[in-house]
Amino acid sequence: METSTFSSVYGPVQSWRFGRSLGVDPIGSVSTCSFNCVYCQLGAIECQSVDRQVFVSTEQIQQDLQPFAPWEVDIITLSGSGEPTLALNLGDILSMLKSVTRKPIGVLTNGSLLTDPLVRAELTIADRVAVKVDAVVEGQFRRLNRPCTDSDLTQFWSGLQRFRQSYPGKLAIQTMLLSPWSDRDQILYTALMHALQPDEIQLNTPTRPKPLNHPLEARSNHPPDALPYLARCLKPVNVEVLRSFADRIQSIVPVPVHYPYQFHS
Ligand code: SF4
Repeated sequence: METSTFSSVYGPVQSWRFGRSLGVDPIGSVSTCSFNCVYCQLGAIECQSVDRQVFVSTEQIQQDLQPFAPWEVDIITLSGSGEPTLALNLGDILSMLKSVTRKPIGVLTNGSLLTDPLVRAELTIADRVAVKVDAVVEGQFRRLNRPCTDSDLTQFWSGLQRFRQSYPGKLAIQTMLLSPWSDRDQILYTALMHALQPDEIQLNTPTRPKPLNHPLEARSNHPPDALPYLARCLKPVNVEVLRSFADRIQSIVPVPVHYPYQFHS
């Protein structure tokens, strides 16, 4: 269980995807995730696991929320120090956040636990769920997301499809581009999105530096030239790459496709 110096609530942070967002961290001070993505803004993941457990009690999160009342934000987002669906009390946390704050609740997830019917059911409490889809072929998935089990993309897609069928809220797909995608991968991705029919697609590229260690402050946004920790910058793809991929997707899939810099270029 977490010590009294840790706060599970942080921010608010300004997100280009969700607006002004108050962060809730159900994982705690040791970064824990089923992936270890090469670009992770938390640095190298300290504990890779697919085992669900209570990391931070729902009562502690409720207490940590109080200094932020009356929660003048657009959304409250579960993310923080790893994969939020690993929290065994996910459903309790989401219900508590809704009833206490009466704000829209979002969850950012890597989708690896969507094969679990209980996780899918718990996530239906959230108003918005954003699922990470960084790869359409197995090799790319292993190189980029580095999952800690031998679960493969076929299982991942099956969990995501099932979730789409049962989820009444707004489903966004978040895709990180570290380099331009091949023609074949773009076609595959567009076909998969056409079948999935998410409510929104968010293309991204690493605009946030990767810390050398795991500072708790990495949960929030900091200007790259004023980071309170040591980090190395990753090379983002050109905005033209994002724009052309977005246009291609939108010519086939009738959903909004967003990407950073879109509204400033
Ligand atoms: S899924 Fe998210 S928290 Fe986990 S390693 Fe990847 S970027 Fe980091």
